Order: sequence, then C-alpha cells, then structure tokens
Amino acid sequence: MKRVILIKYGELTTKKGNRNFFIKTLYQNIKNKLKPFDVSIFKDRSRMYIEFLESDLEEIKKSLDCVFGIHMYHIAYLVDTNIDTIKDQLLNLILDMNFSTFKVETKRSDKSFSIHSQEMNRILGGVVLKNKKNVSVDVHHPELLIQVEIREKYSYIYFNAYKGSGGYPVGTQPKGMLMLSGGIDSPVAGYLAMKRGIPIDCVYFEAIPHTSLDARNKVIELSKKLAKYTNEIHLHIVNFTKIQEEIYKKCHPNYCITIMRRMMYRIMEQLAKKYRGLVIINGESIGQVASQTLASMSVINEVTSMPVIRPVACFDKLEIIDLAKKIDTYDISILPYEDCCTVFVPKHPVIHPSLEQAKKEEEKFDYSSLIEDAIDCVNTIVVKEKEDEFSNLL
Ligand code: ATP
Ligand code: MG
Repeated sequence: MKRVILIKYGELTTKKGNRNFFIKTLYQNIKNKLKPFDVSIFKDRSRMYIEFLESDLEEIKKSLDCVFGIHMYHIAYLVDTNIDTIKDQLLNLILDMNFSTFKVETKRSDKSFSIHSQEMNRILGGVVLKNKKNVSVDVHHPELLIQVEIREKYSYIYFNAYKGSGGYPVGTQPKGMLMLSGGIDSPVAGYLAMKRGIPIDCVYFEAIPHTSLDARNKVIELSKKLAKYTNEIHLHIVNFTKIQEEIYKKCHPNYCITIMRRMMYRIMEQLAKKYRGLVIINGESIGQVASQTLASMSVINEVTSMPVIRPVACFDKLEIIDLAKKIDTYDISILPYEDCCTVFVPKHPVIHPSLEQAKKEEEKFDYSSLIEDAIDCVNTIVVKEKEDEFSNLL
C-alpha cells in the first residue's frame, strides 16, 4: 500500500493573513531540502504531502528534522475515500500488528463524506474488534492509536507521529546578521534565531596573525552546521587585526574589551546595511563575562540603534551546552583555537564601564577610517552543509 509523509504545520496555523506566505515558504524550504531525493510534494491550507521512495525514507526523515515550521509529521497509508476501502485497508494493516488495546481517532476534513467522525470511530473500532483476537478499546492510554483522516479524494491512515523541529520557516522574517565566533554560544544563538524564521548571514572577526587559520576553519565548520537549517550561509570574514592592535596600543587595558566590542557593533551595523540585515544577533549571555554585564552591554550597545537580539541572553551555560550538543556544534566549538577575543584578554576588564570613559578611550585613535578599511576588505564565502571545502569566494 502506498505511503506518504503527511506534514502538520502547527504554529503556522495561528498566522491568519500571512498563512499563505508561511506555507509557501515552508513548501519551498522542504523542496530545497529534499532536492537530493525523488519526491513529489503537494500542499494545501492545513497539510503538506510528500510522495517518496521507501528506500529513502530514513534519510528524508533526517532532512525534515532540519526544516523549521514543521510541527509534526506522520508516515501515512494512502487509501481511496470510500468506507469499504478504508475498512478493508485498515484491516490489512493491523492484522499483523501486535497490540492489546487500541483507539480509533477519525478526522473528517471532507464534510461531504456522509459518515461523521464519531460514527467512523465506531465502525472502524468494530472492524478491529471483530477481526482481531484479545484486543479491547482503551480511549485513555491505547497501545495502538489508529488515526484516520478523511479527505476528498484520498484518506490517510497512520499509527505513528514524529515530532518536527517546530518554529517558523526560515525566510518568513527578514535577514539577521549573526556574530559568529568559534565559541559555544553564538552557533546556538544562530540556531535559535533561524528557528524563529530569520535567515542569517554570519560575521566572523579575525585577527590574523594573532589568530590562526585553524580558528577560521572552525568558524567555517560551525557555519556548515548552521547551513543544515537553511540553503546556504554567507559568512563574512572581517579582518580585525589593525583595529585590535590600535585598541591595545592606545586604550586603557581595562577598557579594551569594551572598546573592541563597540567597534564590532559599529562594523555589524554597517555590514547589516550593506547586506540588508535588519537585526544583529549574537551569543551574549547576561553575566557570563565582564563584557556581558547589563552595564557593559548598555555601554557597548550605545553605538547602534539597530536591534540586537541575544537568543541565549537568559540561558545558563549548561542549557546552552545542551543545545550545542543537540545541534552538533559543541565538539567543534571546544576545539582549542584562539579567537580574537581570547588572544587579547586584559587582566581586569571593567565590569561597570562608564559611557563617557569609553568615548574618551576610543577618541585616542582614528577608528572611522579603520572601520571603513575593514568593511572594504571583507571576505565573503558561501558555506553549504555538505561541502568538504568551503565553496566560492565571492
Ligand atoms: P561564544 O559566546 O560563541 O561561546 P565566546 O564565548 O568566545 O564565544 P564571547 O566573548 O562570549 O564569545 O562574546 C559574546 C558574543 O560576541 C559571541 O557569542 C559572539 O556572538 C560575539 N563574538 C565574540 N567574538 C567574536 C568574533 N571573533 N567574531 C564574531 N563574533 C564574535
Ligand atoms: Mg560566550
């Protein structure tokens, strides 16, 4: 009997006016993700159906787990919408199954089908009871839940439910610019932002020769992990060496991190404008380090009027680590290559910086022209999930 994947949208269904846009975006994302497979995809307002080759099913399931906007899916048997056919086919399916209690749940989406849901439950339950020995109905905790969806031409019978990745389809929000370091927090922040439907470009600040190419490769590998949830990711690599050297030459050591991060935010804002990003996203977590006290964050944030989203701001480190493991970035993040923030860590970074002092410190060098240079020399690479080598330099 033919099987299809039946996808339920979940949270999408709350979007009234935008519903078609959400469904279209989800459809496109699923289509892109399943490109390597021989599938046909159909959509309507409440469901999506995927016809597939049985031999591909396990791989397809893995791919679907990376598409946000899927609430739940089922592997469903397809039958003609006709009471006798449904009865016969259900019987065929359950005859070899082992269970002692069951429940039938019918959903009648085709209201022209003359038998009501409750009546269908009763009829199909009767078929099971009559043909299967030693089974009984348990409406609260059935061993086997038999679900039947009656639709116009075809109906669907299924016994399983797979949890989707939830969230909104990537692309249903405008683009965000993720500050991606080689650490644990920022890939998780990127994942969470994408889960809300935000497509991301990543920005990595490097300070070669103080940081290594290994550190850069680590960020590329992290981008690949994030690319799983979208088509491809543009990773913008900013040469931050000159700015950082100037900061450490000219500014008071306690203020170096504050100033460095103000420079990063300034560059982020300009890159966002250049690449049409609407928000900055990063992995800051309140209180984690000196630059992430609320006092520090407000002084750092002062340089931009662009919204800054910090998806892990209120997470404990252990919660972030759990998510990093789940999305498979943790093992890459803990590789020991130095990042530009760790190379220059001062002994006593200020925890309660003053805005006035920060402004005075950064007046000690001509940062505007250095920022301009850094932006002119940005190196952008396109990262795809499956590529061993990062692809084209733009
Ligand atoms: P992570 O926070 O990702 O574990 P980290 O701990 O090295 O890395 P922090 O010093 O906590 O980074 O910086 C806070 C956030 O600032 C990071 O989560 C990241 O979003 C951003 N950031 C820090 N360093 C860089 C960098 N070199 N390039 C891009 N973004 C960075
Ligand atoms: Mg951090």
